[in-house]
This record gives sequence, C-alpha cells and structure tokens, in this order.
Amino acid sequence: MEKVIIIRYSEIHLKGKNRGYFERAFLVNLEKSLKGYKHEIKRQSGRYLIENFNESEVDEISDRIKRVFGVHSYSVALKVKSNMDEIFRAAKKVCFEHGSFKVNTHRADKTFCLNSMQISAEIGGKLLSEFKNIEVDVHNPDFVINIDIRENGTALAFNEFFKGAGGMPVGTSGKGLLLISGGIDSPVAGHMIAKRGMVVDCIHFHSYPYTNAQARDKVVELSKVLSKYTCGLRLNIVSVTHIQEEIHKKCNGEYMVTLLRRFMFRIAERIALKTGAQCLITGESLGQVASQTIEGMTSSNSVVEKLPVLRPLCGFDKDEIIERSRGMGAYEISIQPYEDCCTVFLPKHPVIKPQLSAVVEEENKLNVKELLEEALNGVEVLHL
Ligand code: ATP
Ligand code: MG
Repeated sequence: MEKVIIIRYSEIHLKGKNRGYFERAFLVNLEKSLKGYKHEIKRQSGRYLIENFNESEVDEISDRIKRVFGVHSYSVALKVKSNMDEIFRAAKKVCFEHGSFKVNTHRADKTFCLNSMQISAEIGGKLLSEFKNIEVDVHNPDFVINIDIRENGTALAFNEFFKGAGGMPVGTSGKGLLLISGGIDSPVAGHMIAKRGMVVDCIHFHSYPYTNAQARDKVVELSKVLSKYTCGLRLNIVSVTHIQEEIHKKCNGEYMVTLLRRFMFRIAERIALKTGAQCLITGESLGQVASQTIEGMTSSNSVVEKLPVLRPLCGFDKDEIIERSRGMGAYEISIQPYEDCCTVFLPKHPVIKPQLSAVVEEENKLNVKELLEEALNGVEVLHL
C-alpha cells in the first residue's frame, strides 16, 4: 500500500486545441514547485498522480501543490492492487471511527468483476462490521470513502478533496512586470495576475540611504512569497534617490509623488520591453490614497508609451485586499513598518488631482532623459 497524491486540474481551460500546451505548462510548474522533494509525477486521464515520495514529506508536498495555479483540487490517497481484499484494506485505513458515511466508487476499468454500486455496497458493508461507531447515510454523510478503480490494475482510496489554488497554469498568458512596493497591495495584484496564467517579474524602487536596508529586505521577502506561486521570478531593484533629490531641489514639492510615479512607470516600461514583459502591473486601487485618483493615474499612465498597465485591485476595498494578502501569506510581511520611497521628501499637502499640463510644466524643470539613463544603468537583478 502506497501513499499517492491525486491532482485534478481546472478542466475548463484545458479543453480544445490548446490542451497539450496548457498541460505541458502545468506539468512544468508542478515539477518546479516540487523541486528538492523526491517524487514522480504520472499522468492519468484528466489528472496527475504524484508517487514515490517520502511519506514523511506529504505535508510539505501538499503545501507546495496548494500554490500551483491550475490545480482545481487534490487528495492524498492510498494506492493498492485492484482486488476487493486490497481495496478493503485501503478503505479501512481512510475510514474514520465515528460518524455517518457513504462509499463512492468510480470505475474507469470496466472489466473489473463488480460494478460501482456493487463495490460501494460490499466495501460499505465490510466497513460497518469493522467499525462499531459508524453508520451509513447516503444523503448527508459526515465523510465519504472514495474508491477509484483505475485502468492499470490499481485502485485508489481517499476521504478528502482539498481545494487547489484554481486559475490557469503560470506561463500560459504571457509575462508582466509588477511594480512592487513593500505594501499590502502590490503583492496581491501580482498574485491575481499570476492566477490568470501570467509569468510575473517584479521591479522595486528604493531611495537608499533615505530608505533603509530593511525596507529592501522586506520587498525581497514579499517577492519570495509571490515566487512560490509563480514558480520563480526575477526582481529588478532600481534606485530613484537621485531622481527624488532632483525633484526636491527643482520642483514644487507638492508634485513629488506625482513626478516620481512618472519616473517609475518610464523605468518599468523600459525594463519590461527589454525583458520581454508585455504589460505593467500595479497595486493601485481607485481613490485609496491621494496619488490614486483618476487624475493621478492619468498622469502616470501618460508616460507609458507601448504597454498596457493592469490594475487588478482598482475596484477593491482595503479589507478585501487584506483578506487576499492573508490568503497568499504576504500580510505579516507587508505590515512590517519600513518606509517606502514614496514617503521620502513627502510634502504636507501633496497635489490630489494633478492636472497633466501642470505636471509636465514641473517635470520640464528636470533633465528627464539623463535621470532615466542613470537609473537604468544601476539596475540590480535578483533571481528568486
Ligand atoms: P502598496 O500597498 O502596494 O504599497 P499603496 O496603497 O501603498 O500600495 P502607493 O504607495 O500609492 O499605494 O502605490 C501604488 C502602487 O505603485 C503600488 O501598489 C505599486 O504597484 C507602485 N509602487 C509604489 N511604490 C513603489 C516602489 N517603491 N517600487 C515599486 N512600485 C511601487
Ligand atoms: Mg505603498
């Protein structure tokens, strides 16, 4: 008797001509997520089976599987030879000692000596005589013993379906570049877009020494959390210290964040184009803070020349975003109190609804081209 994990994927996305393409991407991601753990992945009509792992590592392996987009659900099962004695032996192991139950049998092997109903009835009857404190309830059971008779002479028994991350396999929807800040929102934005099958790389802007090394470590940690879902990612780290000093020196201080945003978007687009990313992604949510008004977005958007900017959180309230942040395991890191570069040289009264003409007038006081080149020359890249 061997422990295995059954993985079911979201069928909807895998139908039609693209099936092979989706399945290959899915398999690659599964393999990447299980790197470092002994295992073997086998394909069985409409699902995958993970076998030959160390049974002591089943929790860690399950934890990895939970984060792979495209997994609809998974179950930890016992695999035995498909004869009734062996099947009963496995059913006994996955049966609880108390409560109501039913047996649900799926028979892919139509040559098996009994049909599904007969198998369920016989196994159910034997379980009843084995355990004194269980009873049958086919309508509303406390637990279900699932028996799956495969075509290859094996059978699986399990008692639980765990929910997977859903979505589409990362790698099937192109590539985007996430502007990641160290706050709550941007990691959630990256997670949502990765769930739609997009490879997500990150870019972070810092103002060292005005912002400290812990602020940077925090972003690295957040990117690592995200990378568990994206099966690895590339983090670009760029200094905007000199840009902020120049804005501070030469421009109306009320425009600090507005002008800085335009530099961030320009730098991000250039790096995106260089690295094959097809869009920018931000954690902006409409009206959440002063710089996230539609006028603020218009101002930063207008410097992005070729790529779309995805803002998946635009219609979310903060508490909805926090819930997702907790769900993906980023929240505790995001709330550590280190400063973002947007808080450096922050004016008392930042402009809330910046008019584009006024923004451009302020920006004309700077040597934009030179500042961009300088920032782009100092990009640091981490592979997480
Ligand atoms: P977050 O929680 O993601 O920090 P926020 O609510 O603090 O968002 P802002 O600081 O206005 O909002 O940032 C809006 C978006 O701009 C962020 O979600 C992120 O995509 C981008 N951004 C802000 N600061 C940085 C930064 N230092 N590096 C990269 N991107 C940034
Ligand atoms: Mg922020």
